[in-house]
Amino acid sequence: MQNRLENRRGLLIILSSPSGAGKSTLSKRLREWDPTISFSVSATTRQPRAGEVDGEDYHFMSEDAFKASVTEDGMLEHAHVFGNFYGSPKAPVQAAIEKGKDVLFDVDWQGAQQISRSSLQDHVLSIFVLPPSIKELRRRLESRGQDAPEVIQKRMSKSWDEISHWDGYDYVLVNDNLDVTFERLKAIISAERLKLSQQPGMMDFIRGLNKEFIEVEK
Ligand code: ADP
Ligand code: 5GP
Repeated sequence: MQNRLENRRGLLIILSSPSGAGKSTLSKRLREWDPTISFSVSATTRQPRAGEVDGEDYHFMSEDAFKASVTEDGMLEHAHVFGNFYGSPKAPVQAAIEKGKDVLFDVDWQGAQQISRSSLQDHVLSIFVLPPSIKELRRRLESRGQDAPEVIQKRMSKSWDEISHWDGYDYVLVNDNLDVTFERLKAIISAERLKLSQQPGMMDFIRGLNKEFIEVEK
């Protein structure tokens, strides 16, 4: 009986935020908390940052290869962000969902919107992460120490464009204290996994209870 209940539908967990608000940090923590969550490794035409590993952080590819993949319908969604192309390869997502596994996405609002309108929309759990202030957002981008000042400026000037899409998400978290935000994120995911719509085995479980009820209590 228990196995039927464990057989739940996978979630597509989408994290979006203005650059620097903390979604990569939260995403890393989530995967450590539950290693069964598979991370959707995006394809991008941007250059790797120091320490980024091809195939783990991103699939780094040329613009021609990216466009060919889009033409062949290989992307679940794609967008042009900060002058580069980004996209979520479709095949690994479909494979994970068929096995009832959760998939985590770190995508911008355009990606979130496309996935939420795709044939997999019933699996979507979307969460938007806000910084506690614009000043703190800049401080985080600077302290991350990965981008040149002009890149930071570009990200800051685009931050309001991203923030303005906050109300298209299922949940919004203000990432002030990281530990508190992470606890809230885990609570959201734990509750969403227990939603009746995520538990296709519940009908069989109820039938079993009913059979037992008739046998034992008749
Ligand atoms: P994003 O993926 O949204 O661009 P990151 O996860 O890379 O953002 O976070 C940007 C920087 O801010 C990193 O140096 C990270 O360690 C730091 N950071 C993330 N969350 C917090 C927080 N709640 N308080 C302070 N610093 C944070
Ligand atoms: P970064 O260059 O900082 O890694 O990412 C820049 C922005 O691109 C972030 O807002 C991030 O969420 C977004 N992004 C990363 N991968 C994807 C993707 O596959 N699709 C979309 N639409 N956006 C992505």
